[in-house]
Amino acid sequence: MMPTPQIEAVIDLDAFGANIAALAACAPSSALMTVVKADAYGHGRVRMARAARAAGSTWLGVATIDEALALRQAGDSGPLLCWLAVPGAAYGAAVEAGIELTASSVEQLDEIVAAAGRRPRVQLKVDTGLSRNGARGDEWTALVAAAASAQAAGRVEITGVWSHLACADEPDHPANDVQESVFRAAVDELAAAGLSPDLRHLANSAATLTRPSTHLDLVRVGIAAYGIPPAPDLGYETTLTPVMTLRTRLAQVKRVPAGAGVSYGHQWVADHETTLGLVPMGYGDGIAVAASNRAELQVGGARVPLVGRVCMDQLVVDLGDAPAGRGDLVTLFGPGHDGEPTAQDWAAATDTIAYEVVTRLGGRTVRTYRGGEA
Ligand SMILES: *Cc1c(COP(=O)(O)O)cnc(C)c1O
Repeated sequence: MMPTPQIEAVIDLDAFGANIAALAACAPSSALMTVVKADAYGHGRVRMARAARAAGSTWLGVATIDEALALRQAGDSGPLLCWLAVPGAAYGAAVEAGIELTASSVEQLDEIVAAAGRRPRVQLKVDTGLSRNGARGDEWTALVAAAASAQAAGRVEITGVWSHLACADEPDHPANDVQESVFRAAVDELAAAGLSPDLRHLANSAATLTRPSTHLDLVRVGIAAYGIPPAPDLGYETTLTPVMTLRTRLAQVKRVPAGAGVSYGHQWVADHETTLGLVPMGYGDGIAVAASNRAELQVGGARVPLVGRVCMDQLVVDLGDAPAGRGDLVTLFGPGHDGEPTAQDWAAATDTIAYEVVTRLGGRTVRTYRGGEA
C-alpha cells in the first residue's frame, strides 16, 4: 500500500462531475466550457480536464498557451480556448495543436496570423466594462474590420466573440445590464461586418447560476465546477458540492501550562493549561499567514482554533482538554458535510475569496483522486 501523503488534497471527481451536470442544467440550451486555468484552480489540470470532458463539458478553457499545450501533451484533443498571451507567445505551436486563440486587439490578431502555419481559429474578445483583456470602443471597431478582412482573405477563421463580466456575483449590480447591452452592440457590429461566429459567450459561474440572459451559445464555468459558490451570499450551497478536502495529521501533541506562548512572536498565549496540536502545514504549502489566530480546523470531529502565527512549515491548534494523539486526522477544509470548515470559511477568516484559498495551495501538498474513472 502507498503511504498516505503527509499533506493530502483529496479530490472528489464524482462531486466535480455532478457539479458540471448541475451547471449544464442551469444553461440547457448552451454549450459548456469548464475553466481549468491555474492548474484547475489548484485541483490538478490533467485529471480535472479529463473528468470535465467525461462529465459532458464540450469545451475547456485556460488562460495561457502554455497551459493549453500542457493539456495537449497530456492527451487532450477536444475544443480548447485560451485567452491571455504576450507578444512572442507560441501562437504557431498552439494553432498546430488545434487550440483556439483569442485576439484582444488588431496587433494581437496580426501576430497570430503571422505566426500560424495554417489558418488559425480565433475568437474575438470585446471589453464590455471589466477593463481587462479585450478591445473597447474604437479599438473594437478596428478589430472587427481587421478580422473581417483577414477572414475574407482566408487567413483566419473567426469562430467566436466573447466578453467577461465584472460584477456577476452581485446579480443586482447595474454593471451587469450595461455589459450585456454593450456585448449585444459589439455582436451586431461584428455581424454588420459580415462575421457571425457560432459562439457568443459572456457567462462565468455566477452568471451561469443567476442570469439566463447571459447564457447565449456557451457558458464558461470555473469556481462552481469545483463546488464553490462564486460568492458567499449567493446561495447554491445545495446545488454544488466542494470537490477538494485538504487534510493532514497531527505531528505532535503536547500539554502546556497557562502562560505558554505559541509560535513566533508569541502572538497567542495560553490563558489556562491546554493541549496543543502541531499541524505540519504552513505558508510554504499555501496556508495564508493571515489565518494566524483566526482560522479553524477540524480534529477528532471538533472545530479547533489555529493559534499563534502560521509558519513556513507548521501551524499550531489549541485542542483544549479533548483527547488527542499524534497522527490524528486534521481536516483544514472540505465540503462541510461533517462539520469541517469549508474553503469559504477560510476565505472569510482571512479576508479573501475562496478562489484564492484553493488555487494558492501548493508546496508539499499531494493530490489524490477519488471517484470518476479513478
Ligand atoms: C477564470 C475565468 C472564467 C471562470 O470564472 P469563474 O468565476 O471561476 O466561473 C471564465 N472566463 C474567463 C475569461 C476567465 O478568466
